[in-house]
Amino acid sequence: MILDVMADALGGRAALAAATTEMVTATGWRRHPGWGKDPSRPELVGEFSYMLTNDVVRPRYRLETSIDTKLVPTKLHYTETGNGSAGYVDGIDFMFDPRPVSMAVPSWRVAARLRHIDLASVPRLATKLLAPAADLVIDGSTVTLREIGRPPVRVVLDDRGLPARVELTEEHSPRGDAEVEVRFDDYRAVGALTLPHRVVIDIDGLTVHDETRTSIELGRGADFRLPDETVRDAGEEQASYAQHSTEWIMNYVFAGVRFYFDLQTAPVESAAVEIAPGVKIVLGPSHNVLVVEMPDHVVAVDAPLYDEYGRAALAQVKAAFPGKPLRAVVGTHFHYDHIGGIREFVADGNVAVIVGEPSVPYFEELLRGPHTVDPDRLAANPVPVEVIGVDDVLELPTADGGVLRIQRIDTDHSHDTLVAFVSKPGILFQSDLWNPTPVPPAPHSGRGRLAEQLYDAIVALDLNVRTIASGHRGTDGHTLAHAAPLEYLRIVAGR
Ligand SMILES: [Zn+2]
Repeated sequence: MILDVMADALGGRAALAAATTEMVTATGWRRHPGWGKDPSRPELVGEFSYMLTNDVVRPRYRLETSIDTKLVPTKLHYTETGNGSAGYVDGIDFMFDPRPVSMAVPSWRVAARLRHIDLASVPRLATKLLAPAADLVIDGSTVTLREIGRPPVRVVLDDRGLPARVELTEEHSPRGDAEVEVRFDDYRAVGALTLPHRVVIDIDGLTVHDETRTSIELGRGADFRLPDETVRDAGEEQASYAQHSTEWIMNYVFAGVRFYFDLQTAPVESAAVEIAPGVKIVLGPSHNVLVVEMPDHVVAVDAPLYDEYGRAALAQVKAAFPGKPLRAVVGTHFHYDHIGGIREFVADGNVAVIVGEPSVPYFEELLRGPHTVDPDRLAANPVPVEVIGVDDVLELPTADGGVLRIQRIDTDHSHDTLVAFVSKPGILFQSDLWNPTPVPPAPHSGRGRLAEQLYDAIVALDLNVRTIASGHRGTDGHTLAHAAPLEYLRIVAGR
């Protein structure tokens, strides 16, 4: 039978059973398909090295890793221990605040890591396949493993019987069904076993992960103990999210972003906050939504994060100007974190999507493509959604007699960047180009290059901007700001 062929190719059932732990030392890189200038070219987000000891049978691991992050160049270094549903991190694990922490990690962070290890560890995979109670479907040299609460994985064996790749369908918000392929290569002897020393992960045909395992040791003891006070919070929805969106979450883990782990469920204020008459902002823990009052409806700019957060943010958008329904949502750019809730925003119907011209096909696909792994409101009840591309500028009349000018600008951040300018109050909303600060910035501080491009575009277009509002709040280290005078941007841009 094919499983015996696999077991023999790997070194035999007895040798597999004797390998109770696996210690892997590796280096590699990770790319993020939802970031970068263009969605067809995933952006390098981290170069990593790690030493991972995982229990081959039980759900526990101890990871020591260093990651050079790229979005904000930072050196992360941390130890993460997971045991069952509890976990603990020691060290620097967050690109945006690279100070050492020593704290419990949420159960679904542990769940995502364990699932990632399951997909990338041949001893763990083989042990699951060879377990007497395994729920398997065997079709030639493909063995499908079905586990409760997880997408089924298809393990494809090569002609020697070695696992060549693992295939599964995950949910990668907001695009929906994502084909994940984990490929194993460079099989070499490790003690009595034969194990892969190269692991490559593709998402929808794009390579996002490539690691070289420089050493593998089997059966070494390891300390999986956690501090006594470790919190366990097994939020069921979030834990299941980790099971069906594992590699989506891992994109952010390798990028050094923690807030995707700390899944947000609601804005930080109880209602949208007024910036000026007719202009409000829904403030999130990390991402904001602008709401502009039009004569008989409202337009939202950005629909950040993911479904669950989107629901709560949408409720505030709908309540921002009573009696005026949402009729359009503008995406400042295609990056997942700013438009991940867009399907939720349009699910009521009669809500158009306005994006930079190059991203029209991308948005049409994410609005219409299959979402079978974790069906959302739009998948359950599809409605037609018009996607409007802005090649240069689109002006819409606002309630105050001015215009909402949706303007495409050139930036290095993404090829489809739009900014939203509300003419009467002189407010320009943008995401990721500059985060407003509560006090005047020091000269040439902040994200200079993108700030320069934003400031130069405002000058070149002769926009009468008085206030810059943003999809992210900025800070002076004490308080946060979601809007600031244009003058602050000028200082940051060094103009
Ligand atoms: Zn972005």
